[in-house]
Amino acid sequence: MTPLPLPAAAALSRPPPRRSLPLAVETVLFRHQRHLPWVHGAMMAGFAVLIFLPPLLPEPAPGDGPLDHLVPFANLALWGAWFPLVLLSVIATGRSWCGLFCPMGAASEAASRRGLKRKPPRWLVWPGTPVVSFVVVTVLGQTTGVRSHPEAAAEIFGGTMAAAIVLGFLFSPGKRPWCRHACPIGLLLGVFSRLGAVEFAPKRPEPGGDRWTDRGVCPTMIDLKRKTESRHCIECLRCISPKAPGGLAIRFRRPGAEIEDIAARNPNPSELLFLFLGGGVALGGFLWGVLGAFTRWRDALGEWAIDRDIAWLLTSGPGWLMSVHPERREVFLWLDFVMIVGFMGLVMVAFAAVLATATAAAAALAGALGGRGTLGSRFLALGYQFAPVAMVSLLIGLGGGLFQALAALGLPVGWVAGLKAGLFAVGGLWSLWLGWKILAAQGIPAPWRPLPLAPGLVATAAAAAAWAPAVL
Ligand code: SF4
Ligand code: SF4
Repeated sequence: MTPLPLPAAAALSRPPPRRSLPLAVETVLFRHQRHLPWVHGAMMAGFAVLIFLPPLLPEPAPGDGPLDHLVPFANLALWGAWFPLVLLSVIATGRSWCGLFCPMGAASEAASRRGLKRKPPRWLVWPGTPVVSFVVVTVLGQTTGVRSHPEAAAEIFGGTMAAAIVLGFLFSPGKRPWCRHACPIGLLLGVFSRLGAVEFAPKRPEPGGDRWTDRGVCPTMIDLKRKTESRHCIECLRCISPKAPGGLAIRFRRPGAEIEDIAARNPNPSELLFLFLGGGVALGGFLWGVLGAFTRWRDALGEWAIDRDIAWLLTSGPGWLMSVHPERREVFLWLDFVMIVGFMGLVMVAFAAVLATATAAAAALAGALGGRGTLGSRFLALGYQFAPVAMVSLLIGLGGGLFQALAALGLPVGWVAGLKAGLFAVGGLWSLWLGWKILAAQGIPAPWRPLPLAPGLVATAAAAAAWAPAVL
């Protein structure tokens, strides 16, 4: 046999040729990554103006709009633009917000370079930490009125900035322990980035599954050669070099492809916990403000407290814990605090119970039909089918400012409602599609798949019914 000429033999061991568009994007980003510190500096200045300046200003006059006063402008920028657009951006660009723009993550890393470089404690690396952080911040945002009061926005965003810097200063040399282990926004963006159309993938992957390591260039401590999941990748660009044979490369993919293949992409129970609880806590945060029954239950609890002389329930608490703004005619009592926290907690648990029951039923049915894996592994994979429903829930519940802004810009109310309904329909259909593909990966033949898909359909319909007041 004639030996292959040397160049041809070498070509056989090379990775497959790269497509031109991702390579072009990677080349541009690689060339400009040295400018990122300037971007972070500008974002930090913008953060300071939008978060810390509004509470120091005089009250806006009645009727002042975003172009008249910084307070309504900052409110619109945060809740009408930043939150919903960053959330939606993960579908197109993954966690680009985190790596390219976020001032909190950049400040945390800067503090980590100069800090004590201690080993992160177990409570910090516990996978449930960001879930707890998300629930606490969401509930506190409701009790303090983060979307109405600039003082509350300064507390929540200033507090997370302080926590990011302190954790960075204490732990992990030159890395982002806050972003990897604790940030509530990072959790949200990380889980939904699995739905995204962009991933950073190893050019020469090694087996062994995802691990974390504080050696290497990755600020979120990903073992780069073993990377299979998008969740922790903040797209900081440090591991790419278009001409190098190793490192990571930008790849484009079909949105949702990672979840369709979730069993091979490091599924994690803490992410399911977030998907189940996150949508529920957002729903609770929305419903308490619109349900007439909530006011009746609150009044009943107040009368019960009066009858029993429980005076503290009818007094106001500290301003860092609840909304106390007599100048704006809003003063919460402990009664309101207890009701809001209790109601949000109950809705969160009920929402999670519906999704978990549907997932368990789907996993059991898939097993009865010969699906691969254990009940637990099928449950873990099938729970991810609800990612689009949870994402739309969070968008409508916590990103409602976007729809208010669209209405204020003149979009007819019916169109805004139609847009929300359309988003929910897309989320529901996408969830069903993901369920279909996950069941296919578990080896369920197509004619039988509707059976284990049905529980997911019921749970999605229940979620849609619960969100109906928000849509209508
Ligand atoms: S994880 Fe949080 S702090 Fe870190 S970059 Fe993302 S949003 Fe910012
Ligand atoms: S995998 Fe690469 S792009 Fe992603 S966070 Fe780590 S170093 Fe940055």
